[in-house]
Amino acid sequence: MKVPFFNYPFVYSQYESEIDKKINKVIKKGEFILQNDLLNFENNLKKFLNAKFAFGVSDGTNAIILCLKAAGMKSGDEAIMSSHTYIATASAVHDAGGIPVLVNCKDDFLIDEREIEKAITKKTKFIIPTQLNGRVCQMNIILKIAKKYNLIVIEDGAQAIGAKFKKKFSTTFGLAGTISFYPAKILGCFGDGGAVITNNKGFAKKISMMRDHGRSKDGKVVSWGTNSRLDNLQAAILNIKLKHLKKDIAKRRKIASLYYKLLKNNKYLHLPPPPNNNSNNFDVYQNFEILADKRDALRQYLRKNSIGTIIQWNGQALHMIKNLKMKYKNLQKTNNIFKKILLLPMNCSLSTKDVIFVSKMINKFYEKN
Ligand SMILES: *Cc1c(COP(=O)(O)O)cnc(C)c1O
Repeated sequence: MKVPFFNYPFVYSQYESEIDKKINKVIKKGEFILQNDLLNFENNLKKFLNAKFAFGVSDGTNAIILCLKAAGMKSGDEAIMSSHTYIATASAVHDAGGIPVLVNCKDDFLIDEREIEKAITKKTKFIIPTQLNGRVCQMNIILKIAKKYNLIVIEDGAQAIGAKFKKKFSTTFGLAGTISFYPAKILGCFGDGGAVITNNKGFAKKISMMRDHGRSKDGKVVSWGTNSRLDNLQAAILNIKLKHLKKDIAKRRKIASLYYKLLKNNKYLHLPPPPNNNSNNFDVYQNFEILADKRDALRQYLRKNSIGTIIQWNGQALHMIKNLKMKYKNLQKTNNIFKKILLLPMNCSLSTKDVIFVSKMINKFYEKN
């Protein structure tokens, strides 16, 4: 038996014939940039998320950059984020002229909201909570802090399309939120892609122009912008996959439940919260991240048994990256967590048998070691 960490060909194989037909149609018609498929996708996406506006952009990183620039980030502005996030969250801030300020995460791997207030200075202008692994942060508390200190909240929802907190979708809490359609993401396209979500009309107008060189609908340049458009072809593919997203998320939650059931009695592991319909969080499990004793030996054992695992960000929390100027104080908790983090296979190509096999091998490792 073989369980790779991710199965890239599967992104296409699920809906192959439907996608083939669509690609053929779009290419034959020559509808490549800012065409109807993009418009349709943006409409479907905003409906899915119960949001007022959605814009397809080139990728999840540029989605954050556009948001920060549209929100008026200035040189030296500080943006508070968890150190347990992708480099993109921080590099977007750097690109927009700001300074990333890093705080610890909690046991569920999301930003520790109790540390946000302590990290606020006169220069703080933004909070960028990352909805990591497909789980939404304590947004009620974060929004309260933001209001108290007059800060702008931009959600990095790259990993959390469809996730909810108190029945509200990720990316709809703050001024704006961002999504990534990188192939391995929950809603993956066939290359790079991303989106900006907002309920603010003025902000929406800025994003729609900024992603297309600051041009308004009639083609006149009215502000600075850049080229950050989502290809019409990718949008057409995403439109097809979006129809199946609810079902795909249900499958991920089912896989998470099964992992939880099979691993919860293993005292050498710390598991993420299981799917629970009575909790404030509706998680979509972009990743199934665990803490594991003897992590590196476990990984090697699993690899020998043809099971792929990944250590998120190659094991580097943002503050561990040398030569990049980020601001932080004590991140001992994150240091401790990063000695043990591990991502188990989590995607829609997994069968029940796969999940049982992976769990069995993990439990077997600890019986022997
Ligand atoms: C994937 C990801 C991004 C960036 O997305 P790209 O589309 O690859 O630019 C940003 N933040 C987080 C947390 C991500 O996982």
